[in-house]
Parts: sequence; structure tokens; C-alpha cells
Amino acid sequence: MGDVTRGALVRFPAIGCRFFQQGRCLYEELLNPGFHTAWRCLVLARWESVYDDFLDRAENFGLSETELGVLWRKRFERLAEESAPCPDLLPGEGESMPECLHLQEDICLLRLPQCAGQCERFRLRENI
Ligand code: SF4
Ligand code: SF4
Repeated sequence: MGDVTRGALVRFPAIGCRFFQQGRCLYEELLNPGFHTAWRCLVLARWESVYDDFLDRAENFGLSETELGVLWRKRFERLAEESAPCPDLLPGEGESMPECLHLQEDICLLRLPQCAGQCERFRLRENI
């Protein structure tokens, strides 16, 4: 699967692998989606925690779903304007929230293991 050059194993590039994304390997994440919580986007994790906190507090006031929706929308607008709790956020075009080029579904590609070249799990992407 590779060449031996001066004693070091050189792997073939894995860019055509279906698990390859921006130099990272999605294999484990696709095998057990959501299992590695440390791979979640920091911004989404923060928003989720604020939302849980919001629901806990709202429960005490006995609000209707409509009232909750209005309150949460306002809270979320403020939250989204706060500086993102992530120094690596890379703004880009798209409709994801947060709008970050490293976001894949709800995980951060930067937090995934790096691909070191073709390995035994390499599978050719179907649409290339
Ligand atoms: S780099 Fe982007 S995807 Fe990764 S944690 Fe930061 S905001 Fe989320
Ligand atoms: S070649 Fe192996 S390490 Fe690289 S992306 Fe594919 S499965 Fe992951």
C-alpha cells in the first residue's frame, strides 16, 4: 500500500477516500455518530448548553410553547451576536449554523484524527 523510502513508510494520498475530508478521517464518526463528544463543534455545544439552561429556567414560569419560542428567539439572537467561543471559526458561504467551513453536520473537522494517507480502511469515493 506504500513505498519504503529511507526506512520510512510513505503512504499514497487518500484524497479519493470516502472518509477523507479536509485532511481528516471521518471513519470513526460515521461508524459511531455522536459517540466522540469531544469532536462536537464548540459553538454548537455552547448553544446547546445555553438552551438546556434556558429550558430549565423557563420551566419554573409555566410558559406556553409560543411564549417559549418568542423568548428563545430573542435569547438566541443575542447569543449569536456574542463572540463565538472558538478561535478557529472560519467563516464561509453556506447555510450552516455556525457558518464555519470546518463544520460537518454537528462535528468539527479540526477535532477529528488526521489522515496520514491510504490505510486499510480506504474506500474509493463513489462520485469521483
Ligand atoms: S472551527 Fe468551526 S466547526 Fe470547529 S469548533 Fe470552531 S466553529 Fe465549530
Ligand atoms: S485513508 Fe484511512 S485514514 Fe485516510 S481518510 Fe480514508 S479511512 Fe481515514
